[in-house]
Amino acid sequence: MRNYELLRNWMVDTQLIPRGIKDKRVLEVMRKVPRHLFVPEKYRDDAYDDMALPIGEGQTISQPYMVAIMTELLELTGVEKVLEIGTGSGYQAAILAELAKEVYTIERIEALGENVREKLREMGYNNIYVVVADGSKGLPEKAPFDRIIITAATPKIPLCLTEQLNEGGIIVAPVGQRFSQVLIKAKKVKGILKEEYHTPCVFVPLIGEHGWKE
Ligand code: SAM
Repeated sequence: MRNYELLRNWMVDTQLIPRGIKDKRVLEVMRKVPRHLFVPEKYRDDAYDDMALPIGEGQTISQPYMVAIMTELLELTGVEKVLEIGTGSGYQAAILAELAKEVYTIERIEALGENVREKLREMGYNNIYVVVADGSKGLPEKAPFDRIIITAATPKIPLCLTEQLNEGGIIVAPVGQRFSQVLIKAKKVKGILKEEYHTPCVFVPLIGEHGWKE
């Protein structure tokens, strides 16, 4: 068995800090959360490598750097109510839950959502709520949110999500074509999203009413 704590520190020191991740709380939590427990057993030793990995059902856990930059762009201070769209492995949700007050995370594939709900409960996370549904519609019954993160590629930021975001809130999402996107950070100012463009990226598609058709 590998020394996973050592690998986590190596990941932060060689993949995150050199690429400009600065938020101390984000770096700290990336050193802490056991990413290898969120990947299938056969990939555990690869969990801290600089890449996305398959998690079953044709889906992926995002590359560590992508998780870190998206989290940093959310500017979490510990008091926020966060919506994540695209639970996947549950790793990003765990990272968010360490840095915010509570996290609602939506997954459209039931097997993934159920598995993550069980895993997070076993790991002792009691501020993460996993919902199986079409997250492209958001979660109006729990709105408004202070932060929204979409961890699947979306052709645009659905209007309903802007409506479910508090004034001054932030949405982070990979926006663009089905096979290539740009990471966008958008802040809601006087009801309108002010967008900033960050790194190019490639995510699996958001499938649903306000995403792509299957
Ligand atoms: N955040 C995840 C993690 O930490 O492992 C990685 C997410 S993976 C790149 C994208 C996920 O979005 C997949 O699990 C996929 O099933 C899910 N997804 C795609 N369309 C969705 C939708 N409309 N609603 C909810 N989840 C969706």
